[in-house]
Amino acid sequence: MDSIKQIYRIGHGPSSSHTIGPMRAANLFLTQVKGLANVAKFEVTLYGSLALTGKGHMTDRAIMSVLNPIHPTEVIFKEDVELAYHPNGMLFRALDTAGKELKTFTVYSIGGGVLANESFNEQTTNELYKLTHISDIIPVLQKYGMSYWEYVERCESPDIWDYLAEIWKVMKSAIKEGLETEGVLPGGLGLRRKASDYMIKAQSYTENLRARGQLYAYALAVSEQNAAGGLVVTAPTCGSCGVIPAVLYYLQETRGFTDTRILHALATAGLFGNVVRTNASISGAEVGCQGEVGVACSMAAAAASQLFGGTLRQIEYAAEMGLEHHLGLTCDPVCGLVQVPCIERNAFAASRALDSYMFANFTDGTHLVSFDRVVTVMNQTGKDLPSLYKETSLGGLATLTDIRNHLSNIDDFAKDEQHSKARGHSERKKRKSVGLC
Ligand code: SF4
Repeated sequence: MDSIKQIYRIGHGPSSSHTIGPMRAANLFLTQVKGLANVAKFEVTLYGSLALTGKGHMTDRAIMSVLNPIHPTEVIFKEDVELAYHPNGMLFRALDTAGKELKTFTVYSIGGGVLANESFNEQTTNELYKLTHISDIIPVLQKYGMSYWEYVERCESPDIWDYLAEIWKVMKSAIKEGLETEGVLPGGLGLRRKASDYMIKAQSYTENLRARGQLYAYALAVSEQNAAGGLVVTAPTCGSCGVIPAVLYYLQETRGFTDTRILHALATAGLFGNVVRTNASISGAEVGCQGEVGVACSMAAAAASQLFGGTLRQIEYAAEMGLEHHLGLTCDPVCGLVQVPCIERNAFAASRALDSYMFANFTDGTHLVSFDRVVTVMNQTGKDLPSLYKETSLGGLATLTDIRNHLSNIDDFAKDEQHSKARGHSERKKRKSVGLC
C-alpha cells in the first residue's frame, strides 16, 4: 500500500479527478514532449465521465492552464466514448502545423488526483505498507501495543509529520478564507456561498446549536472554496474535501486539541482512507459518492474517535459506520458542477462523522460488520450502480429540469445584463450627443 500522501494532496478545486489529475497529466505530457521538434499545437480528448462532467468540473480550464501557455491547445469532449481501463480517460496529442501526430499519451485520472494507464499506476508504485487490511493491521498493533498513527509513522518516512503539518495548514486556510468570502459561486447555478452566514447565525444560539452551526459552517467554507477553484486538500478527494477539516477544526476549536494530536488524527484517518483506496476506490466515477463523501466521513469518524481516546476496535467501528451509512450514495452533480448536492453533503457527512465516533465510543468496539467487509460491499455496490449515478450527470438530481432551466435563466440574466449595459451605453452616447451628461 502506498503512502497516505496519496490521500492528502494539495491542489485547486473543484475536483481531484477532474482538475488535479488532468493538470498533473498535462504536466506529465509536457515532460514527454520536451525537446521534440516541430510541435505546433496540442489536442486533448476527454472520454466518458471526464467528458460528461468536464465542463462543470472545469477540466478543460485545468488542462488549458498548463498546455495553452506552451502551444495552442484544443480540448475535445467525447461524452459517448468510454475507454475500457477507467471512465476518466484522456488522450493527449502533440501535432505539427500540418496536423501530423508527433506524440500521444493516453492516461486515466483514477481518483484523488492519481494517474494510471496500462503501463504505470501511481497507486501501486510505493509499497510502504505491507498490510492492506485493517483486520490484518489490528493484531500487529495489539501485539506491539501500538496505535494506528504510530503504525503510520513506522511505515512512512519521518517527513510524514512535516507533510501532514502542511496539509493541516492548508485545510485551516481553506476554512478561514471560505468563512471570509461571500457572493455567488461560479458556474451559473446562482448558488450563493453560505458559510459566513452559518457562522454568524451560529453565534446567536446556545452552546449545542452553536457548535453544530459552526461544524456546518466549516464544512461549507471548505467545499465552497473548492467549488470556486480555491486551494484545498483532497481528503480523500476535492468533492469531499470539507468533511475532515470541518471535524478536526471544530474539535480543536471547541475541545482545544493540540496540533500534534490533530496530526496524529490525520495520520489515522489517512490510513483508513488508504485502505479504501487500495482495496476499492475513492473515485465518484467508479463507485459513486459513497467512495468520496462516504469515505471522507469514515476517515473523519476514525480521527474523532482517536482524539477522544477510542480503542483500536472503537476507531475501526467508527470508521466502519461512517462508510456503512453512506452505502449506495450516488454521484449526480447538477449540471456537472461540484456544488449541488456536493457542498451541503460535506456538512451532513461532517455531522454524521461525529455521530459515528460517539456511537462507537459508547461501545466496547464489538460489532458485526468489519471495516474491511464494508469496503468490499461499497466497492461491489459501486460496480452495481448504473453509470447514470457515477459522475456522469445523467441521472438523479442532475436530471431535475427546473434546476437546469434555472441555469438557462441565469444565462438569460447575463445576456440581459449585457443587453442593458449596451442599451445604457447607447443611451449615454445619445445623451452626450445632446449635452445631457
Ligand atoms: S456528488 Fe459526491 S462524488 Fe459526485 S461530484 Fe459531488 S462530491 Fe463528488
